[in-house]
Amino acid sequence: MTPDDELQDNTLADRPTGMSAQMRPRRKSRSAPAQLDFPLVRNGLDYLASVVDHLGKNESMVTEQDVKYAVLHLHAAVEVLLKARLLSEHWSLVFSEPHQATRKALDEATLSSVSIDHAVTRLQNIALVRISDKEKLALKHLKEDRNQLQHFGMTAPAPVIETRAGEVLDFLIHFVDHELLPHLSDREKIEARLVLRRLRGGLASIKVFVRKRTNRIRGEVTTAGAENRTIGCPECGYTALVLGEAAGPDGEPVSATCRFCTTLWEQKELLYCFPADDRGELSELNTCPQCREWTLGWGVRVFSNPDKGVPFCFACSVAFPSFVPCDRCSRPIDHADDSDQALCGRCWDNAVEEDRYGLEEPMDYDDEEQG
Ligand SMILES: [Zn+2]
Ligand SMILES: [Zn+2]
Ligand SMILES: [Zn+2]
Repeated sequence: MTPDDELQDNTLADRPTGMSAQMRPRRKSRSAPAQLDFPLVRNGLDYLASVVDHLGKNESMVTEQDVKYAVLHLHAAVEVLLKARLLSEHWSLVFSEPHQATRKALDEATLSSVSIDHAVTRLQNIALVRISDKEKLALKHLKEDRNQLQHFGMTAPAPVIETRAGEVLDFLIHFVDHELLPHLSDREKIEARLVLRRLRGGLASIKVFVRKRTNRIRGEVTTAGAENRTIGCPECGYTALVLGEAAGPDGEPVSATCRFCTTLWEQKELLYCFPADDRGELSELNTCPQCREWTLGWGVRVFSNPDKGVPFCFACSVAFPSFVPCDRCSRPIDHADDSDQALCGRCWDNAVEEDRYGLEEPMDYDDEEQG
């Protein structure tokens, strides 16, 4: 034990006396709570087992009900397991307002308990548990799915849920392994390990599902020669949204369905998902260099070069990787040469005129097409 740890231990000297031996944090080091409330851990693992039961089936067997209970139980598992760890750190940390914590409220279970967001922050700041940004994002998605389910009775499409559930399961299994298991008694450990083994099997089958699906889509996109018109889906994040396929009554493409999550996208919706700037309003920046319509999105990841977001026209289904906004009027222009100034033909002409004759009246941009 380092002197630092001893100091930490002393700070706990004035803990309440009424606490049961099981809950009392007998700390050995700052990140090692002595004992956990096993019934709570078992309860959390039960929820996880239910998630795997609902989602670990064959793809075609997963029903709407399965998706619903998977989301609800995964959410419950997160709540319970994070709380179990907080409780071992100090029982007041499971209260939404630790400064109002009382033993009575804890014993009678009448407390208003900590939210998942705050539990994550407390685990990071107080228990020094490492939780990555990606894991936090997965937890955030889970919370949104659960809220949507409770208020509107619906969730994201099943494949999305399955993928997200996989991410949260991944996190929780690791969390149980590293943060909870070491502090259980040997007998409890054996019990928990048995459940974990089953969970790992379930997680593996969810991962297989995701990999199979992405592989199949990759094959379809390549066979169709659609690499340049397949983009990242705003809903699921997979590069599986193939544009330029579905045609409306007049032959124009009206919508596209993501091959991964099955979400249907209208051209207009997509435009708002890929705004040109923070304001998110349509402007000259959305002018397609090819069709001249306001149908150009920005920061779109395309299958053929998924690492970098580029301007992409949802009407033409064409990417314009070398295009940037004109420095003066914001119309997208080809700027492959990387020169200092990016000016469209007309703004360039104006700049030359100004150089020659000095600054004149502001130009009216509406009267003619770009040169
Ligand atoms: Zn999608
Ligand atoms: Zn276009
Ligand atoms: Zn310009």
